Amino acid sequence: MRKILILCLLFMFGVIAQAAPVKVASLHPLLSEMATHIGGDKIKVVNLFPQNGDLHGFTPTSGEISAAVGARLLLACGKGIEPYLGDLRQSLSTKTRFVELGADVPDVMVPGGNHADPHWWNSPENMKRASRTLTQALCEADPANKATYESNQKKYADEMDRMVRMGRYIMRRIPQEQRVLVTAHAAMCHFCKTFNFTPIPVHGIAKESEGDTASLAQLISTLREKKIKCIFTEVNASPKALENIARELGIESKPLVMDGIYPRMDSYEKIFLFNTGIIAAGLAPAKPKKADKAQ
Ligand SMILES: [Zn+2]
Repeated sequence: MRKILILCLLFMFGVIAQAAPVKVASLHPLLSEMATHIGGDKIKVVNLFPQNGDLHGFTPTSGEISAAVGARLLLACGKGIEPYLGDLRQSLSTKTRFVELGADVPDVMVPGGNHADPHWWNSPENMKRASRTLTQALCEADPANKATYESNQKKYADEMDRMVRMGRYIMRRIPQEQRVLVTAHAAMCHFCKTFNFTPIPVHGIAKESEGDTASLAQLISTLREKKIKCIFTEVNASPKALENIARELGIESKPLVMDGIYPRMDSYEKIFLFNTGIIAAGLAPAKPKKADKAQ
């Protein structure tokens, strides 16, 4: 009887001694996904970004701020895409460490502008870099599970290497002269750097910002000269400037997911494969039709 009692006490002590998962709050669904891959069951991820939210218009509500209370880490994209971070810091305890996962990603400048493109997640190479930053922060917050985090980060990094290879393969038939990515907002510069495209953003950083459209005629002339076959809108936005360019040139426009947020695609892999597939469909030459065997 005594032995059973001791065993029960040991079991209870074991359960109590088991560390609770580390609470991690995140300001972007792709960062939440990355954290889930690396933290596994050692962490509890709270995604603060609302479904159907607009990345450039988002500011956390009081409800979303409450959901972050008690988090050891708060994951942000960084590179200035969350202008509300300073206010959010004031609203949360100093025990919550803010980690900007884009901090270690090298800047890529927007062509013709004097600012960097903050949409670093559009290159899997950067997701790999960011996963190192995240892993280091997790190891510091929870050293007892360092080995788990580091082992999971290696797997995640291998996955991102695989994404780069897949992207290159999917877009392999696009000739160099067609490797021009015309978009509305400046969101694909990191992608372009990794996959050897030239980005031409018609507007600035945010979707609704008033870009310099005075040079539109020049752009149309360049695209006509280069015989660019397709330009790229977004799944949730079809800016007038792009519609006008497509109409003027009589070419196609196809939608991409640029802000990393699209509720119908709940993983980085789905978004990345969608984007690379659309770009290949828009810019690669049509496949020659197979000869009809009956002839
Ligand atoms: Zn954007």
